Amino acid sequence: MKNNFIQQIDNVIKCIEENNEFVLTSHVSPDGDNIGSTLGMHRFLNSIGKKVYYVLDDEIPSNLLFLKDDIEKLNSSEFDTKKDYILISLDCGDEKRICTNDDIKKYAKKRICIDHHASNDASFSEVNYIDSEASSTCELVFNLIRRYSELKTIDYIDEKIATRLYAGLSTDTGNFQYSSTSPETFEMAKILLEHGAKRDMLIQKLYQSNSFNYYRLLGDALNTLKVEKTSNGKLVASISVSIDMMKKHSIGFNEIDGLTTYTRDIENVEVGILLKEKRKGEIKISLRSKNDIDVSQIAMQFGGGGHIKAAGCTINDTIENAEKIIKERVLRAF
Ligand code: 5GP
Ligand code: MN
Repeated sequence: MKNNFIQQIDNVIKCIEENNEFVLTSHVSPDGDNIGSTLGMHRFLNSIGKKVYYVLDDEIPSNLLFLKDDIEKLNSSEFDTKKDYILISLDCGDEKRICTNDDIKKYAKKRICIDHHASNDASFSEVNYIDSEASSTCELVFNLIRRYSELKTIDYIDEKIATRLYAGLSTDTGNFQYSSTSPETFEMAKILLEHGAKRDMLIQKLYQSNSFNYYRLLGDALNTLKVEKTSNGKLVASISVSIDMMKKHSIGFNEIDGLTTYTRDIENVEVGILLKEKRKGEIKISLRSKNDIDVSQIAMQFGGGGHIKAAGCTINDTIENAEKIIKERVLRAF
């Protein structure tokens, strides 16, 4: 654990110790780190006797549902904000992306933010543990639980927590491929495995359980693949997925995040772009960079954000226009 974050971790621990009821939430369009960090934290808080509510107004992708286990997921409208509660948002770098209604954000007694997004300016919570160099929010939850365990001389990481945190660690690092994978990441993976993280089961669920329909959609999506030359002879690639395509193959909007990697993983491609039509006129864009282009800066120009090598934003236009607009901006970054 990096020493310069101990104060931030201890501030979170103090707030946890001083309060009894917590709402845990994360960002819209949930991914492995979102679910893993939230539910790892959920179990930890339960195990130290806290009352915890899990609120997320979005669908969990089917390949991540197993992580939820028997935890009840509420929609915002099912939560009574008259309670005295602390809101903990995990893996969310932007207040607009917190996946609850405004009342839950507004009536919280205090807000804790645990996050690793470079674009997080710590402006929407009173208590912050933000480390943009961490591989994942699961790494931060791990540090927090380890610190608490050290203070209480009780080991709070059990098999379920280890499995949930390993899931986010694996998905946010591209299963230990990306440059955010540090020696601390491997150290954490080692400790989680020693605590019984079910890696083989996770790998199968996360990476080896795509549906047949998903592959059908993948075929159509790959047919939209386009590449453009940049000013320095590199390539930018893009794939577009329309609502009709998702409908045709009965695939939900949250089930196809994995397609982004197909744009990036092409020889000589520096930046990959996935455009997904959420509604008519609302296009969700995912950006991936292989080397030096900072895609979080590009996403921020459209009101989005993320990390240097993985970021996203929304453009309200047709899918064709959004493609033109984002490509032009990406090509200008070279
Ligand atoms: P993805 O492309 O997988 O949706 O997201 C890549 C990264 O950028 C994730 O860390 C995600 O949380 C972040 N991200 C995606 N879309 C947005 C957005 O609209 N706003 C912000 N602030 N971050 C985003
Ligand atoms: Mn994350």
